[in-house]
Amino acid sequence: MSVQEKQKINFAFRDELNSIAEGFRHNYCYQCGACVADCPACNYSESFNPRLIILKALLGFREELISADSEIWNCTNCYTCSERCPQDVRPVDVIIALKNICVRDGCAPELIGSVSGAVLSSGITTKVTSVSEKRREEHGLAPVKEYPVEELRRLLEDE
Ligand code: SF4
Ligand code: SF4
Repeated sequence: MSVQEKQKINFAFRDELNSIAEGFRHNYCYQCGACVADCPACNYSESFNPRLIILKALLGFREELISADSEIWNCTNCYTCSERCPQDVRPVDVIIALKNICVRDGCAPELIGSVSGAVLSSGITTKVTSVSEKRREEHGLAPVKEYPVEELRRLLEDE
């Protein structure tokens, strides 16, 4: 459905988003567009636009936003939009809240599962291999540190 079409607002989805950490911030948006100008993802994707994502959240476009194909996954989490927004919406935090709903509902892209699996096993988002360690050495970088992932796993068990 296009945002220009006349329709009823899906307040149930807005309530759902309000219940996720930082999701309530979408309510502050007055659609000025300041978050769009320096967004790097907008430069690479014609369909990506943080202002429109917030507008869809305000209208309650659950089907478009909560899916593995949603444009929210093109956000780089750079936080530039949060620095630009005059309303303290922090669009990236709203986008993260939308991503968290996707993960909770089991409709995140497959890649997310492998990234979170890597974090749980090594504390970083990519797999450390002998090849990646060799490349680090060639570039004068120290070997990847070992992180205390047991604490992270315990936190998940306590949930
Ligand atoms: S800068 Fe803030 S208020 Fe303006 S459109 Fe973006 S999110 Fe909304
Ligand atoms: S955090 Fe996402 S939406 Fe915000 S400026 Fe960066 S890429 Fe764009």
